[in-house]
Amino acid sequence: MPQSPTYDDVQSAAARIASHAHRTPVLRSRRINEDLGADVVFKCENFQRMGAFKFRGAFNALSRFTAEQRRAGVVAYSSGNHAQAIALAARLLDIPATIVMPHDAPVAKVAATKGYGGQVVTYDRYTEDREEIGRALAAERGLTLIPPYDHHHVIAGQGTAARELFDEVGDLDALFVPLGGGGLLAGTALSAKALSPGCELYGVEPEAGNDGQRSLRQGAIVHIDTPKTIADGAQTQHLGTHTFDIIRRDVNDILTVTDTELVECMRIFGSVMKIVVEPTGCLGFAAVRKLAAQLRGRRIGVIVSGGNIDLDRFASLTAS
Ligand SMILES: *Cc1c(COP(=O)(O)O)cnc(C)c1O
Repeated sequence: MPQSPTYDDVQSAAARIASHAHRTPVLRSRRINEDLGADVVFKCENFQRMGAFKFRGAFNALSRFTAEQRRAGVVAYSSGNHAQAIALAARLLDIPATIVMPHDAPVAKVAATKGYGGQVVTYDRYTEDREEIGRALAAERGLTLIPPYDHHHVIAGQGTAARELFDEVGDLDALFVPLGGGGLLAGTALSAKALSPGCELYGVEPEAGNDGQRSLRQGAIVHIDTPKTIADGAQTQHLGTHTFDIIRRDVNDILTVTDTELVECMRIFGSVMKIVVEPTGCLGFAAVRKLAAQLRGRRIGVIVSGGNIDLDRFASLTAS
């Protein structure tokens, strides 16, 4: 891709996905507002198609394929939400999808990807490199590789969630966004700078995988080993070059939270707001709870990024 995406790209993504993606609800809780002494709005991407915001970027990227690319198909590597997003978007656009997943990926995730019509190719995550396999498949079969975050059209698509949020609630004082490889945070930054330029923007990642925070402080992308955390959507080893450029330009800071703090948020979302949120989807809210003293009296936005967790796991994590 030539230059870095801009808010114009987010707007054109919004038009492309409009008739396929849900405009997800913005929820509030009086009880949470009273507890925190702030006015908090939650953009609930757990209600997005396939259960996470990733459908936005995937559909935007695939909708731009040429006739030839469509015929040959798409390949993606992911064990999680990006796989399901690509498989679903490809099915809607009638594009064959090949998804590279570890052979020990959760059965439910493999089944969901196959259920959306994706052809699953497995690999050994301890001895093989998924990016290499993805690239090899792309070269051999003429497939187009769509990476999970470091891609112009993926970033622009992810930015449409915040665009809808500002459209609905107006200016915010601060917005808190889950951070893995940075597609969601970078896209959100494009919308925030255009629509609410005074809004402070924070990325939030698991404490065990604070590569984003270290990257921002060092001014260069830091690589880490796959972090041990329940936030499986944020187990990335490094930011992307495109996402990092936007993040270092537009984001105020990157914060971290612990797995225990994520579980507390899952419980609050479930018991107070009656919604199921996966651990990664709780990152933003966990940071808001931690900073509550500084946020009193302010208008705060939180992106709730996804809700894909099987019920047995939800129950065991949230059991007291
Ligand atoms: C992928 C994902 C993230 C992280 O998104 P990036 O664009 O990689 O930063 C956060 N939450 C959920 C639910 C995800 O699936």
